[in-house]
Amino acid sequence: MSIRFDWELTIARPAWADALQSRFREIEAEVATLFGPSNWRVRRVVATNWVNGPDVFRPDESPTEVDIRVSKTVANFPDGKSALFQSAHEFVHALDFVDIGQASVLEEGVAVWFQADWCVRNGLINAQDMRDKWVTSKCYREAWVAVSPLLASYPDAIKQLRVELGKSLSNCDASDLKKVFPGISDETAADLVKKCEYVH
Ligand SMILES: [Zn+2]
Repeated sequence: MSIRFDWELTIARPAWADALQSRFREIEAEVATLFGPSNWRVRRVVATNWVNGPDVFRPDESPTEVDIRVSKTVANFPDGKSALFQSAHEFVHALDFVDIGQASVLEEGVAVWFQADWCVRNGLINAQDMRDKWVTSKCYREAWVAVSPLLASYPDAIKQLRVELGKSLSNCDASDLKKVFPGISDETAADLVKKCEYVH
C-alpha cells in the first residue's frame, strides 16, 4: 500500500518520486502509532507551485479526505529529502484538520518535533543541520522548544489528549493540557494553546 505522490510541477518528475510513495504510508502509520489515529484520510501528497508553503488541503471541501501539498522547493533536493521533511510535518496536521491560521503552538510544536525526529532518525538530515538550516521560522523553533521536553516526559500525552479526552491538538484548552502533562506550568499551558503566528 502506498500514498500516491502527484507531481504537478513543470520540472520533470524525478526518479526518486515513486520511491517516496511507500514512505508516506510509513510516516502516516508512525504518526497514528504515536499520536492516535487520524480523523482524515490522506488521499495523496502533491508537489505544487502553491506559493504559501506546504499545507493540508481539503479537496472540494471533502468531509473525510485531505491532500498534503508540498512546495516546489522539494525539486531542489536529491532523493526526496525535502519532500519527506515537509510531508512528515503535514501528516501531523492531517490528524485533525484545521483551517489555515488556526493551528495552535502545541499543534505546530508536535508537527515540528515529529518531522525533525523522523528525518534525523531515518538519516535524512543530521541533528545540527536540522536546528541550524531546516527549522528556521521563529514560531516553529519556539513551538519545538516548548513541546520537546513535554513529549520526552509524557510520550503518550498526545494520544491521551486525542483518544481518551477526545480533543484535537488545536482545540484543547489549558486545563486539558494539565491533564496530560501533569507537570506543566500555567504559563506554558497558556502559551501552547495560543494560535501559532506562522501557519503551515
Ligand atoms: Zn505546521
